[in-house]
Amino acid sequence: MKECLFCKIIEKKIPAKIAYEDDKVLAFHDISPQGPVHILIIPKVHIPSVNELQDSDKEIIGSLFVIASKLAKEYKVDQKGFRLVINNGLDTGQAVAHLHVHLIGGRLMQWPPG
Ligand code: AMP
Ligand code: ZN
Repeated sequence: MKECLFCKIIEKKIPAKIAYEDDKVLAFHDISPQGPVHILIIPKVHIPSVNELQDSDKEIIGSLFVIASKLAKEYKVDQKGFRLVINNGLDTGQAVAHLHVHLIGGRLMQWPPG
């Protein structure tokens, strides 16, 4: 996607602090972290949001969670806890229309979220 910020990060046209990369998934540190650990995990294929998911996306969506699990261990938030967040659409403030999982940890969190 030409005008997608996260596609530009995937293409290395915009710099990011990369935490994990393989041929299908990229994870990078959020530019405005909401906790000591805040990593965005994204598919390299452009999927705008959960609304567009199809049966053929099952494997890539599974990969996002498996990589989240690995990163939570690597960044040592797996024991005390962390949150995985997917903002989807206007009401949630989704700012970037490229599906992403926020991995946030390293601080006490409240429930319900804002
Ligand atoms: P969302 O509101 O769920 O769409 O989240 C978008 C996230 O992308 C926010 O947490 C932003 O801080 C983050 N973000 C925006 N631009 C960049 C960037 N250039 N590098 C890293 N993270 C970014
Ligand atoms: Zn994109």
